[in-house]
Amino acid sequence: MLQAGIVGLPNVGKSTLFNALTKTRKAEAANYPFCTIDPNVGVVQVPDARLTPLAELVKTTTLIPAAIEMVDIAGLVEGASKGEGLGNKFLANVREVDAIVHVVRCFEDEDVIHNMGRVDPVADAEVIMTELILADAESVASQLQKNLKKARGNDKDAAASVALLEKLIPHLDEGKPANLLPMDEDETERLKTFHLLSSKPMLYACNLKEDEIADPTTNPRFVAFREWAASQQDAACCAISAKMEEELSELEEEEAKEYLEAMGVSDSGVTSLIQATYDLLGLASFLTAGEKEARAWTFRKGMTAPQCAGVIHTDFEKKIYQSRSGILRGLNICRKHECSSRRRQTPPRREGVHFCGWGCRPLQM
Ligand code: GDP
Repeated sequence: MLQAGIVGLPNVGKSTLFNALTKTRKAEAANYPFCTIDPNVGVVQVPDARLTPLAELVKTTTLIPAAIEMVDIAGLVEGASKGEGLGNKFLANVREVDAIVHVVRCFEDEDVIHNMGRVDPVADAEVIMTELILADAESVASQLQKNLKKARGNDKDAAASVALLEKLIPHLDEGKPANLLPMDEDETERLKTFHLLSSKPMLYACNLKEDEIADPTTNPRFVAFREWAASQQDAACCAISAKMEEELSELEEEEAKEYLEAMGVSDSGVTSLIQATYDLLGLASFLTAGEKEARAWTFRKGMTAPQCAGVIHTDFEKKIYQSRSGILRGLNICRKHECSSRRRQTPPRREGVHFCGWGCRPLQM
């Protein structure tokens, strides 16, 4: 399962958010830095508005949404790339995740100490990004040495890596994240093999006060931050209130509804955040439904329809074909007579149908 790591300075609300996301108290949320030393991993369900009506249609009460893993990574601090505040350990945890949810603090609360002594989300985000870039600069320098050696032995692949690494050095030195380097398609693919922290897909979760969530633009720090993020990296910004979400996760469904109504919001910030994270990981889902269950299945965007069928069962990838109606059928489980008779007459057409083009239509098997 793909993983998104929650990162940010200490005391910005990462563990509180993680608790809300996983609906557990697994990660400790306490008002002091470094209370979370080992990463906590939790499975998070991806809310899907299509599932309930589909379940009603097929008369099942079992709903199985898609899921992703979230990792609560302890607070990074200035100097992390030089080992400050267990920096190396935390950076190693960041290296392992597939995407980054970067939490910044926009809420004021005198009772919650700010690591840098003031609430300034832009400065906070710059501290974290600088640490990721500094760690990348070190990694690029060592990968360059290794590839130079190989390139001298006429290794063409290593020579291509050297060319890209040499472009990355001045780019990182200017304080720019690796993913902003102008690259062609080959270079974009090659960049992935370097496993750089600043090349990972990232979105910002802006942690606001409970009463600001109905209209996040009432918080001038959020407004300024969103403009800054768009100008810097075109990264998405989700407005959330970690505290409110944590309270919501402890309430029964009806109570949670009433609470949301009282706060003047219909959708929780966390719902949008999880969906944005799922999208950031390059994932999408298709649905199946029957008496037993209504279920969302995860596929990577760009996968073909047969590959998607293979997510359910590897056999389906080989046995699926596209019928004239454009509906995909799995030969081994389709009970319709016309299907088996057609099978006898003509060999199945197996085309690389791109699933994205199918929108959210259920895959009928
Ligand atoms: P982390 O170090 O980033 O993981 O921060 P925590 O989640 O442990 O939160 C640190 C402190 O801030 C805790 O006392 C939380 O209750 C508090 N906190 C987190 N989010 C909010 C919020 O949205 N509003 C307020 N007022 N306090 C919050």
